[in-house]
Amino acid sequence: MTATDIRTAAIARALFAARFGADAVGTWSAPGRVNLIGEHTDYNDGFVLPFAIQHRTHVALAPRTDGRIRVVSTFDEGSVEVALDELDALFPDRRDEVPEWARYPLGVAWALLAASGTDPSTVTGVDLAFASDVPVGAGLSSSAAIEGATAVALADTWDIDPDRVALAKVGRRAENEAVGAPTGIMDQMAALLGRADAAIFLDCRSLEAQVIDLGFAGAGLELVVIDTGVKHSHATGGYGERRAACERGAAALGVPALRDVSVDDLPRLAELVDDVTFRRVRHVVTENQRVLDTVRTLRAQGPTAIGDLLVASHASMRDDFEISVPELDTAVEAALAAGAVGARMTGGGFGGAAIALVAHDQVQAVTDAATTAFEAAGFAAPTIFTVSPSVGAARD
Ligand code: ADP
Ligand code: MG
Repeated sequence: MTATDIRTAAIARALFAARFGADAVGTWSAPGRVNLIGEHTDYNDGFVLPFAIQHRTHVALAPRTDGRIRVVSTFDEGSVEVALDELDALFPDRRDEVPEWARYPLGVAWALLAASGTDPSTVTGVDLAFASDVPVGAGLSSSAAIEGATAVALADTWDIDPDRVALAKVGRRAENEAVGAPTGIMDQMAALLGRADAAIFLDCRSLEAQVIDLGFAGAGLELVVIDTGVKHSHATGGYGERRAACERGAAALGVPALRDVSVDDLPRLAELVDDVTFRRVRHVVTENQRVLDTVRTLRAQGPTAIGDLLVASHASMRDDFEISVPELDTAVEAALAAGAVGARMTGGGFGGAAIALVAHDQVQAVTDAATTAFEAAGFAAPTIFTVSPSVGAARD
């Protein structure tokens, strides 16, 4: 564990002790993630290339004997408690009865019991306390981190042994049905399957995952995150509208998902749908191709060669999918002008963070350039830090 992990795990244990008046039996954790490339392709059955980052959410846990689950977080002064055998009645219909943040861990408990066919009366109750150093709403998926940490902690405690893909599906179901956010499965797969120095090349249709060496350190590269501080929201915003446009495009071409559309099919689609739908589809179709090209390029030439693909991805999100914001464009432009190998917005869009692939000795120049550009544009100062590809969910 890194020094930050040790500190955050200690905060989770201290929170547990302070709120519950007892000691936890252990801590588990799961990481946030950065998506290197492949944006809004996951729910189109396409390809993504995320990696887990060193920022993690830790959960301290102890069993309790009365079949109830209770959760607390550094985010909230209250605690939320429910009987395990009431979760089925709570989700999804009565989810509004619990605060939104608590739906993530309680939703995971609910979905894990259901996925494993476990009768809630046969497992122990649990107390859970969460602490995290994953920035929230920055596009780094603090949601998958809390889901992943909860999933591995409960699977261990309840002695159920689903594979990692099954746990990722549990996280997605919690987020879709218990929280009510219509997200894909990329974030959970990255949080559960992450490896040091590597990305996860995920086929979102088959859920086949391959570990792809990134080799950033060996190539003298750093991955810089420029968090704009502009908050996005998955549950509202334009996310649902974008998904609907993708579904319209697939329906117009008579295919199950945009995964089944190639760049060569695009001229035909232009005749069938309105301009906005066409551009939404073009983003997804070309982005899928860029993920494949990035994997091939990483294998053949290494990370220094993927810069143009990152830049093309950003342009496609800005112009075709229209999910960028001025702060993200400014971050990308400033990073490139200061010598970044490549840069793009990452995550769902409408705010959050941009990433820049930068030579080690140019990180300071890129940081300064982005800071100066934000100031000149009258934007609030961005938060800038580097991330390294790290391991997935585990017991600490
Ligand atoms: P992102 O995943 O990009 O950070 P989301 O909106 O998907 O943003 O998820 C953020 C939400 O996840 C928070 O608003 C909160 O409800 C929940 N969450 C994440 N981490 C924690 C935590 N440590 N404690 C409590 N809730 C958390
Ligand atoms: Mg999220």
